[in-house]
Order: sequence, then structure tokens, then C-alpha cells
Amino acid sequence: MRPSFQPRLVNNPFQDPGLFIPFRFEKRALLFDLGDLHALAPRDILKITHIFVTHTHMDHFIGFDMLLRHFLGRHKTLHLFGPPGFFANVEGKFSSYTWNLVGEYEDELLIYVHEVHPEHILQKTYVCREQFKAKALVGSRPNNGVIWSEPSFHIKAELLDHRTPCLGLCLVENFYVNIIKGALDELGLPVGPWLNRFKQAIYEKKDPGSDFNVTWEQDGVVIKERHYKLGYLLDKIAKISPGKRIGYITDVIGTEENCNKIVSLVKDADALFIEAAFLDKDREIAQKKFHLTARQAGLIAAQARARYLKLFHFSPRYAEEEEVFEKEALEAYEQYRDHLPN
Ligand SMILES: [Zn+2]
Ligand SMILES: [Zn+2]
Repeated sequence: MRPSFQPRLVNNPFQDPGLFIPFRFEKRALLFDLGDLHALAPRDILKITHIFVTHTHMDHFIGFDMLLRHFLGRHKTLHLFGPPGFFANVEGKFSSYTWNLVGEYEDELLIYVHEVHPEHILQKTYVCREQFKAKALVGSRPNNGVIWSEPSFHIKAELLDHRTPCLGLCLVENFYVNIIKGALDELGLPVGPWLNRFKQAIYEKKDPGSDFNVTWEQDGVVIKERHYKLGYLLDKIAKISPGKRIGYITDVIGTEENCNKIVSLVKDADALFIEAAFLDKDREIAQKKFHLTARQAGLIAAQARARYLKLFHFSPRYAEEEEVFEKEALEAYEQYRDHLPN
């Protein structure tokens, strides 16, 4: 089974945190955290539609300027999510530049900012041509734990303690549509962009009795098509299986309350990206600085039954000890798992 999302850390584990999540079948990506983005190619930055900022310490938000620099003057829509106080941080960034010439821009850049509170999510709109002054209308919706939702996936979030509210994040693919190559061959159908349309129709739960056209394309031009019922194709060429889960946890103190919230947020994650700023020998410093140790990260991963674990956000004090992080986390993971009742 090939995953629809291919997450990768933007930087090495000693540098600014950030997870870039491109979509396999679209020119589109999500971004968790907005630290230094120089390692991303401009064409990748321009794929980003939604950015989820855990909190606005510099190492998680300094990439805002670079992001805006790439999107300025383009016809694009961006969604940014952050914890309480996020509007003020974003507006502070906007107000640090002069915008006297943007009124004449032909293309419309729209930025929706969502501020996540425990009980509700507030939304403000900023328009480039209007010099990024917030629109008067502020939207509000209840926070039921899902902060963004689309037909094919949703994003769950939890407010965690980092001596400032910090978002823990989990990307959940609603289900996975696997195309059976042999079945395509049997029907004499080509691989092509129509498969994206087909998957989208399934994610959107379109009527199985509705018409669906399979198209043959050359240089973006349809040269041949064949007509089917959506439900017929679904039975013949697709297999539906559970979707993937990708957890992202950073900048949290390892208290019982935080750990319990994290475990339920990222339960059964296929991949868990989790900070380990310190080693267990320095757990008192970790606690003072409201960060996790590698051991705590390994324990959380085991309790959540995560299938793949990736550590990041190492303190520079351990420049020579990179491999110790993995070892310490893995030991804690295995110890916990070995003592689980069957
Ligand atoms: Zn940090
Ligand atoms: Zn922080």
C-alpha cells in the first residue's frame, strides 16, 4: 500500500523543527510549524496550502516572512492555524512592512488565520490588496478536537503545556483508496489524471449511480474517453482500506497530564514525529525548559502504539551524541512494550 502523504522533516534534528507533508497525487502540501524554511525548494513552498504552527517561539515561526515573500503577488489562498494569541503574532509580522503598493496587484492573495482555543476556534481574514488589515468580521466555531477537515483527511489538535499553550497535531487520512493495477489492465484503462478525479469522487462520497468518464490524455488534451457508473468502477478497480495517521508533537513538558493528552491524540499513529530536546541524564533541565527527553518520547510512542518513531529538536549541547537519542528512545519503547499484558 502506498501512502497518500509523504511527510519529511524540513531540517536536520538539531535545526528548526518543521514537518513538510506533500500529497502524493496533487501539487499540494501541508506544513506543521513554520521555522527556518531555507531547506525547502521554492516550488515546494508554493505547494503549501495549510500551515499549523504549534506555538510562536522563534524557532517555530521565523519562516513566516519567507513564506509570505514567496506567496506575495500570486493568486493563492493560505490557511494558518496557531494557539491563543496567534492573531497578534501574525498582525505583528504584517505591521513590520510597508504595503503602499499592493493595492494595484492583479492577483489576489488571501490569508485565513485560525486561532485555536480550548472551546472554540476564531478565524480572521487578511487580504493582500487591503494591506493585510484584518477584516472586521471574526468567525467562530466550536472546537470539537478537529481543527480542519476535508473529504480525504482531517487534522486533530490538542492544546498542550509548554508554559505557553502549544498545539499537538495529528493528520488523519479518512480512508485509503488503493487502485488495483491488474484490474485497470483487464478493463484496458490507462493510468492518468482521471484516477485523481476518481479518488476525489470517492472521498466526496458521490452517488455510486452517477456517471464517471475515464479519459485518455496527451499533453493535457483529452484524446479519448469511456463512460462508466462510479459504483461499477469502484467495485472493479479499487480497494478501500483504513487511512494513515501522522502525529507531530513538539515543545511540551513531560507531565502526566501532557503525556495522557498526547497518547490519546496520536493513538495508533503510523508515524510519530516527536521532539526529544534532552537526554534522560538531563531530565531536570528538560523539565525546567518545558521539553521532553528522548526516554519520555520513546515511552509516549510505545503507549500510543506508534508504528514508526522519528525524533527531532535536539539541543545543540549534544552535537556529538546524535545516535544516543534514538538508542534511549528505542530502549524505553521496547521496555514498555515488553511489559504490556498480551
Ligand atoms: Zn522549539
Ligand atoms: Zn518552544
